[in-house]
Amino acid sequence: MALIVQKYGGTSVGSPERIKNVARRIARWKRAGHQLVAVVSAMSGETNRLLALARDIQAHPDPRELDVMVSTGEQVTIALLSMALMDLGLKARSYTGSQVKILTDSGHTRARIVSIDEANLRRDLNEGCVVVVAGFQGVDEAGNITTLGRGGSDTTGVALAAALNADECQIYTDVDGVYTTDPRIVPEARRLNTITFEEMLEMASLGSKVLQIRSVEFAGKYRVKLRVLSSFEEEGTGTLITFEDDKEMEQATISGIAFNHDEAKITILGVPDRPGIAYQILGPIGDADIDVDMIVQNVGHDGLTDFSFTVHRSDYLKVLEILKPVAAHIKAREVQGGDKIAKVSVVGVGMRSHAGIASTAFRTLAEEGINIQMISTSEIKISIVIDEKYMELAVRVLHKAFGLEQPT
Ligand code: ASP
Ligand code: MG
Repeated sequence: MALIVQKYGGTSVGSPERIKNVARRIARWKRAGHQLVAVVSAMSGETNRLLALARDIQAHPDPRELDVMVSTGEQVTIALLSMALMDLGLKARSYTGSQVKILTDSGHTRARIVSIDEANLRRDLNEGCVVVVAGFQGVDEAGNITTLGRGGSDTTGVALAAALNADECQIYTDVDGVYTTDPRIVPEARRLNTITFEEMLEMASLGSKVLQIRSVEFAGKYRVKLRVLSSFEEEGTGTLITFEDDKEMEQATISGIAFNHDEAKITILGVPDRPGIAYQILGPIGDADIDVDMIVQNVGHDGLTDFSFTVHRSDYLKVLEILKPVAAHIKAREVQGGDKIAKVSVVGVGMRSHAGIASTAFRTLAEEGINIQMISTSEIKISIVIDEKYMELAVRVLHKAFGLEQPT
């Protein structure tokens, strides 16, 4: 007997028929002798509908009231799924976040889980009940309803699996696993049987939207066995997210090509090359709570240097605004920027022990005449900033250059 947490996303519970389908799947696992916890999202489109409704009333909805309202989406699904399970002759009981007691901080609309009281769930499970928990929501110390940020049900699933010490956390979604890249861009993209946590974090933060990134961090921290699978297929083992120190796992050199076009680039030209300049430029950006991604500073020449960095595209104009007085103050020559860029990354833990990965990537782009604007590397990835209009081409040729379409 195993204790399994299954999380079902919005499309998986998008209609009464699909909810009944989910109930049938849970019933199969239950009848195979396992204990089951189901974490569910709101029915697809519901969270967006509710958010739009709030904005019809208040241009910038009050965060506390927004959480009260938007958490109702998941509350509907837990009740419907419990009914569907009962209809199949199973014992089932629904829980909102505050009924479980998923305690969070008070950061409305992006709260963080502090602790989970699993005693009631454990009692129900031991009585043979399927426990159905609302994803995405919690309660703070003062009893206010909170939510965990878009996609937060993944994090609820993983956090419950950690709290209950579950044997596995299965994330059911509308794709059958994690792919080497987006199959809409590269039809030959292949589902990975396994991917390490580090790689998954890179793939998730770089724009592969399979899992909320916080849930991956959580699973890594608490060593939750996490699997992504399709709720529309009867069979299939999906993608298992593994630990690099798990010796039984064979590590491929490169696992995937991630990409994102949500960034913008800013360059400050002719900056006096002296101590404290990076701090003077980036300090005010950090103070404005804006995340900086890549940073490049050139070798100085004639006492001057150039300084470039990237930020999220939605912060672009704000950053230009912040930099105007800064550039004048440090007597920089000019501030340039562009938001028509894309970042393409080659990701793989295996590159640690393989030379030549970077040169293969650069040669591949050169052969296509794609100009590289910025490069940054870590132990397990190489990220390259290019003109947005070449993004899909770059992803395709890199995917091919690293042989990712070949089954391993
Ligand atoms: N319903 C929430 C959302 O759409 C949470 C989730 O589905 O994970 O973001
Ligand atoms: Mg999701």
